[in-house]
Amino acid sequence: MLIGVPKEIKNHEYRVGMTPTSVKEAVRHGHEVWVQANAGSGIGASDADYTAAGAKIIATAAEIFAKADMIVKVKEPQAVERKMLRPGQILYTYLHLAPDPEQTKDLVASGAVCIAYETVTSPRGGLPLLAPMSQVAGRMSVQSGAHCLEKAQGGRGVLIGGVPGVAPGKVVILGGGVVGTNAAVVALGMGADVTILEKNVDRMEELVARFGTAVKTIYSTQGAVEDECAAADMVIGGVLIPGAAAPKLVTKAMLKDWKPGSVLVDVAIDQGGCAETSKATTHAEPTYVVDNVIHYCVANMPGGVARTSTFALNNVTLPFALAIANKGWKKALLDDAHLRNGLNVADGKVTYKAVADDLGYAY
Ligand code: NAD
Repeated sequence: MLIGVPKEIKNHEYRVGMTPTSVKEAVRHGHEVWVQANAGSGIGASDADYTAAGAKIIATAAEIFAKADMIVKVKEPQAVERKMLRPGQILYTYLHLAPDPEQTKDLVASGAVCIAYETVTSPRGGLPLLAPMSQVAGRMSVQSGAHCLEKAQGGRGVLIGGVPGVAPGKVVILGGGVVGTNAAVVALGMGADVTILEKNVDRMEELVARFGTAVKTIYSTQGAVEDECAAADMVIGGVLIPGAAAPKLVTKAMLKDWKPGSVLVDVAIDQGGCAETSKATTHAEPTYVVDNVIHYCVANMPGGVARTSTFALNNVTLPFALAIANKGWKKALLDDAHLRNGLNVADGKVTYKAVADDLGYAY
């Protein structure tokens, strides 16, 4: 199969669909891979690296879209890319169609076979092609929050791990899922005092089994959120109700009781955020201040560490990409119900129920 890897063109997107290592693996399986010139520059992978891995470097995205059997990307295709998709061509990338009727309309019209990373499932439950990005965002949240706590950034001037003779900073994590667990890993590693608020009792048992008494877990009620956040130096928002907007656990009124110069890192901002005062920001201007609380609400945190994120993403996307390339998409999807769950659009139809229901397509 001819696999095409165009350079990402969404604003501030530095990741790339395939690393040179992934290309080498595909070539080893007998496939041809075309990579657009400079596609890997954002992760420090040069055209020479791709050539050494066996790829052919192609000058333009148009040439790749015109010939490739499968396009492997990171972000959803932009309007100009959607125009280049061909009937029967496989598109394997993040799509997030439910809130995006324009993109859905174009993909349906293209006749392409569109497999979305975010709806591929796992026999162990969860969404395996989304999880690495939550791992990245969770770990990064504490790093970013610790930076915000510095005086020069407007923070409280607290060193999160303290020093001998001075107590560490208090980190409160709302939601103990993938983001929350990974935030806890880094916060504990930095020596912080860590508390996780969770609604799911089984999840809290798993957290205690994993971290022992190093973290405190507290059942998440409005009162607990009020008390814990008021005592915190850093609050990480990592709650998720699947398929719904994030619950507003932090009200504007609560902020008046928070320590001046404390930090809210609202990772859940891509689902609307878990604070009433959260609004999406970018890596260029990541923070703003409300009632003396620094808000960090970057909607695509993994993009800030594009190299780590690309490798983490490829670890989970490559096996499916190889299955599709080796068997053809129909056989690969027939053989694997979890990969089949990734099929969102095919042959001019929406094939994913939630997207069809949300956007009014027949299913
Ligand atoms: P997850 O499903 O693994 O974890 C969410 C947790 O929140 C669950 O354990 C759930 O029980 C808990 N929860 C739900 N309601 C709660 C409440 N009222 N109080 C306390 N806990 C509650 O989800 P995740 O993968 O950790 O993702 C969390 C959020 O981070 C999602 O909105 C996700 O889209 C977002 N995210 C953002 C970025 C970014 O760049 N900003 C990157 C990755 C993920």
